[in-house]
Amino acid sequence: MAIQRPKGTQDHLPEGSPKLSLDTRASAFVHVQDVARRVLERAGARFIATPLFEEAELVRRGVGGSTDIVRKEMFTVFYFGDHGGYILRPEGTASIVRAYLQNGLKQLPAPLKLWTHGPMFRAENVQKGRLRQFHQVDYEVLGSTDPLVDAEAIRLMVEVVQALGLRGVRVKLGSIGDPADRDAYNAYLRTLFGAHVDRLSDDSKDRLERNPMRILDSKSAGDQALIGELGVRPMLDFLGDEARANFEAVQAYLSAWNVDFDIDPSIVRGLDYYRRTAWELHHEGVGAKSALGGGGRYDGLAEQLGGAAVPGIGWAFGIERLLLAMEAEGVAVPAAPGPELYVVALDEAYVPQAAAVAMTARQWARSEFAYRAQKPGNAFRDGERRGARLVALIGSDEAAQGTLSIKDLASGVQTNLPTADLAAFLHEQGLHDQGRQPQAALSPTAQENA
Ligand code: AMP
Repeated sequence: MAIQRPKGTQDHLPEGSPKLSLDTRASAFVHVQDVARRVLERAGARFIATPLFEEAELVRRGVGGSTDIVRKEMFTVFYFGDHGGYILRPEGTASIVRAYLQNGLKQLPAPLKLWTHGPMFRAENVQKGRLRQFHQVDYEVLGSTDPLVDAEAIRLMVEVVQALGLRGVRVKLGSIGDPADRDAYNAYLRTLFGAHVDRLSDDSKDRLERNPMRILDSKSAGDQALIGELGVRPMLDFLGDEARANFEAVQAYLSAWNVDFDIDPSIVRGLDYYRRTAWELHHEGVGAKSALGGGGRYDGLAEQLGGAAVPGIGWAFGIERLLLAMEAEGVAVPAAPGPELYVVALDEAYVPQAAAVAMTARQWARSEFAYRAQKPGNAFRDGERRGARLVALIGSDEAAQGTLSIKDLASGVQTNLPTADLAAFLHEQGLHDQGRQPQAALSPTAQENA
């Protein structure tokens, strides 16, 4: 058998591939990134890209030593002598905060909105919607504690999934308070669970020491049964006045904007640097336990990484999970477009000419050519199979006169025109870059020269 891809990874495949589903269709994957880009950049977010691997210490401090991610799921790469090894990044937030600190992004106007997308790596038990290499869209805002920033971040996350056409999405909103509130809650949990240590899973015994809130997040059925029996009070009962006022302000904004949400007291983010607003985005099609995405405020993270204090908030959703939800809802995703112009020679002698016409036409439109001569009937069928809009033929007459015979596969109309008029013809058909809506973006240099 030929070599197979590693377990827990996916190939993103072109249109027409056998056994294609939405979560493996490359055009759907790119569509999610494009929609996210449009929504987030309109809101002022700037794109940032960070390395796929980072110092292990960044992940340890940035994600937390008590999390499953750090304890069991890190992919370690490279081992140079006594260097402790790098980690393939399991999420984007720690890297973005590191990049913010390291590159002096504090000098940019605050709050600074950043976004990225890319692969993340976690050595998890593989199942549907749970991969070892998956992809996230990530939005982070640095430099403000204003609840308006929190509410806007949640709204933008909802806007992205709505722009993708998803309907059955719910925001579950919670707050984990300020550090003093969380200390009080952890003390309460320690006493409560401390009386039942023998019933806790080994992981949760450890969590009881380090960070009792994480017990509530446990995947162990035994832990969850105990949590149910004990009738654990929610974190929300422990919010101090400031955190409560902040939580209410976030809710007031969301309500004013008609962004639906449910208060979910079970939402916990156990890490020390998390603060106040925390939420998850759920979808019926992906199952109650599988969030499409999540977010939270992390005002203590920059200091945790050894930098100056910078408040921050962010969210991420999994592109594959989103595509599974879209598939479950039957949301249509535009297919990758075929060529606007497909140029075919009717005789091998004219193949180079067909190639030259197609290559010239690429200044204005998506253009391909046939590498071998074809008969007209085959050329049209071939063009159709490739999703072409126009098929241009070059036979002996066209070659002698410097013309093209063009068939519009949509309308069936045939035209003969001088090759020199091709740009004008494409324009008339709405297939020329300059005639398109919206217009292709100008590069910065083109703008300067304009
Ligand atoms: P997290 O960083 O754990 O809050 O995850 C944010 C989102 O990333 C989740 O809601 C999922 O949509 C996605 N995600 C996390 N882990 C995986 C995984 N192993 N496979 C696929 N998607 C994932």
